[in-house]
Amino acid sequence: MTSLSFLVDSAQDAKFRLEVRSWMAENLPEELRGWSTRPPREMIQPWHHKLFERGWIAPHWPKEYGGMEASISEQLILQEELGHAGAPILSRQALGHIGPILMRHGTDAQKAYHLPKMLSGEVMWCQGYSEPGSGSDLASLQTRGEVDGEEIVINGQKIWTTGGHFADWMYALVRTNPDAPKKQGGISMVLIDLKIPGISIRPIMTIADDEEFAEVFFDDVRIPITNLVGELNDGWSVAKALLASERIGNANPQLALQCLDKLQRVARVNGTIEDPVFQDKLNKLELDVLAQSAVFAHAIQQAKSGMDIGAGSSFMKIVATENIQRIADLMFEAAGQYAADVEPIATDEGPVDVSVLWREVRRITIYAGSSEIQRNITAKRVLGLP
Ligand SMILES: Cc1cc2nc3c(=O)[nH]c(=O)nc-3n(C[C@H](O)[C@H](O)[C@H](O)COP(=O)(O)OP(=O)(O)OC[C@H]3O[C@@H](n4cnc5c(N)ncnc54)[C@H](O)[C@@H]3O)c2cc1C
Repeated sequence: MTSLSFLVDSAQDAKFRLEVRSWMAENLPEELRGWSTRPPREMIQPWHHKLFERGWIAPHWPKEYGGMEASISEQLILQEELGHAGAPILSRQALGHIGPILMRHGTDAQKAYHLPKMLSGEVMWCQGYSEPGSGSDLASLQTRGEVDGEEIVINGQKIWTTGGHFADWMYALVRTNPDAPKKQGGISMVLIDLKIPGISIRPIMTIADDEEFAEVFFDDVRIPITNLVGELNDGWSVAKALLASERIGNANPQLALQCLDKLQRVARVNGTIEDPVFQDKLNKLELDVLAQSAVFAHAIQQAKSGMDIGAGSSFMKIVATENIQRIADLMFEAAGQYAADVEPIATDEGPVDVSVLWREVRRITIYAGSSEIQRNITAKRVLGLP
């Protein structure tokens, strides 16, 4: 088992770790362990609610908003124990993305209405940024949001919306001023209840045979103007802040740790684990994940002290997502002739679907901005290159 052992547990942390570990052993349902794709809503929601009732659903949220306001070591311990227990990765759209944005930019009414439902897991969220012609060049988005008295009328289409077909609400970017001199200047962020008239949603299948995302169509959809987040036409700055925290979330080591555990289990099946060349590769990956965890810990420390990580989050996203892809590649190698099997490989701690996992993690260097775009941002805004 790989550990994030750059931190030595204090006596208090060791007690917390034990508490989390034994609670997971008793409370994480067997059928939720070890998923490579996202379990369906009806399975994930009760687990979300259980963590909420235990007080561990939002370790990074301030107590003021119902979070745990956990120390850095407690946050890492939770991620590590969730990872090793094989707990499913929960959607970050609410707790990781729009929740913290509403704390900073939302109105009191928005906070009071939405934040408690995000914590309890009663309402699920999705992100409406990308459109068929606007992915990397997000600011070119065309979905219109026309102000009409006390309402905004939305027309257009979003695509690649993770969980769009099972979410209740979407936070979206819409063009409210098509005549703004700079394309970034005419964009607003809005909150959309996906159950209102004029919205149709079609799921899209991924290469991992998983209905991960959807396309969402808006036809004269009317939302109250009070669903605006921040100022009208100032959605771009809100959107950028959200993307930075989304990329930091991608550096969360939980998934990498789960993949490392699976890799070792697969390598034990045919004895590859004894091969010194394999061990060398495994050790390098373990060190990479350790470094990723240290960077993640540093970022949450900065966020806790109110610092804006901004473009630094791009580097973290590259490191974390490419680590996971390298683990999946080595797992493929370790599985040998079984790698491409449709059936999962039986290991000493349950089945591992090597092929599904390998296909599943192709996406992570694309969403939240592709690796190429993250390299561009790092080159320009961190290294100051021309
Ligand atoms: C699994 C998954 C989930 C997603 N979930 C969501 C979601 O919930 N909400 C949402 O809004 N979006 C979501 N997306 C969309 C994602 O943000 C976009 O796919 C991504 O930003 C890339 O945009 P694109 O697909 O339009 O590709 P394009 O922008 O067309 O890019 C195509 C290729 O060209 C490269 N490229 C483009 N411009 C440049 C450049 N200037 N320099 C160098 N290379 C460049 C890209 O790196 C990429 O390899 C998701 C995507 C995936 C795969």
